[in-house]
Amino acid sequence: SQEIHLASRPQGTPTADNFSLIERELAPLQDGQVLIQNLWMSVDPYMRGRMIDRASYVPPFQLNHVLEGGAIGEIIESRNDQWPVGTKVSHMQGWRSHAICDGQGLTAIPATSLPLQSFLGIMGMPGMTAWTGLFRIAELKPGDTVFVSAASGAVGSIACQLAKLQGCTVIGSVGSDEKAESLKALDIDAVINYKTAGDLTQALAQAAPQGVDVYFENVGGEHLEAALNNMNEFGRITVCGMISQYNATEPQPGPSNIGMLIVKKLKMQGFIVFDHWQHYGDFAAQMGQWISEGKIKWDETIYEGLAQAPEAFIGLFEGKNKGKMLVKL
Ligand code: NDP
Repeated sequence: SQEIHLASRPQGTPTADNFSLIERELAPLQDGQVLIQNLWMSVDPYMRGRMIDRASYVPPFQLNHVLEGGAIGEIIESRNDQWPVGTKVSHMQGWRSHAICDGQGLTAIPATSLPLQSFLGIMGMPGMTAWTGLFRIAELKPGDTVFVSAASGAVGSIACQLAKLQGCTVIGSVGSDEKAESLKALDIDAVINYKTAGDLTQALAQAAPQGVDVYFENVGGEHLEAALNNMNEFGRITVCGMISQYNATEPQPGPSNIGMLIVKKLKMQGFIVFDHWQHYGDFAAQMGQWISEGKIKWDETIYEGLAQAPEAFIGLFEGKNKGKMLVKL
């Protein structure tokens, strides 16, 4: 079998030499264990944080050990009656061709007409993140004006569409004109290309002259400053991520206009989606319904082969993906 190890801790943006592809003999199965052949794996921005040696909400990755992350595979050998051969499962032992598991931490993929990999995207953690951030954190209301950064990504593109479905006006920010066109094709009201827009505060003021009620924060830095400058009174900022900061080698200064929180009486709240997982059933029922009614769409960017996983991961920080970034094994 093959697996990808963390060969060194990235300084700044990760590079290919931070990773190594290792061949390994599979151990024979013990009683209670199953062997999973991985079919899909996810690369996610939060993995960058786990490459730093520090305490956080998940432990850091160990050097010269296999990385971890969301994956979907098929059980090809089983010594566990609860998990028969042929079952398709999602689990957290990504970054490897095969995983041996004792049945803990496995979730059977429900029988639906949806593609398997959608359970790593719209029907999985990123979809659940968009839903949680809007409905459980930002208390989204019909008629709100919503600003979403990293708006064509896995989380952002779903957040934009969920807000539209609630009758909101939605403004997205993205890093290319092509991404902007894709979002406009989904009826997103206005899209800013932050790389060419110049002053972001002005660009957002132009796109949302009525002001912003909800900011879905994925990026941080200038995006947060621009949002703070354009928020309406009693606006809500749902802090999902700050990808512009993840590769910083020095602590970054906070937004210069943080005082807007007081003047505008804003609420700003961060969240980690895993804390909300007991609501996954509600999310999946609603999302499944919207998908079957054709009300919501999703994109995927697929890299082929385990060896490409580091490139796919690095690509997240270069805007290489539209929708969910995936590796097909
Ligand atoms: P995406 O699919 O959005 O991929 C990342 C995108 O971020 C890139 O495509 C790129 O798009 C954009 N980006 C990268 N670097 C920068 C930068 N320096 N400035 C502005 N934009 C940048 O990833 P996800 O949807 O998986 O994640 C989105 C955010 O949500 C991340 O911050 C992530 O950490 C967070 N998250 C938080 C969770 C939680 O529980 N709180 C759970 C899941 C995700 P572009 O071309 O537009 O620049």
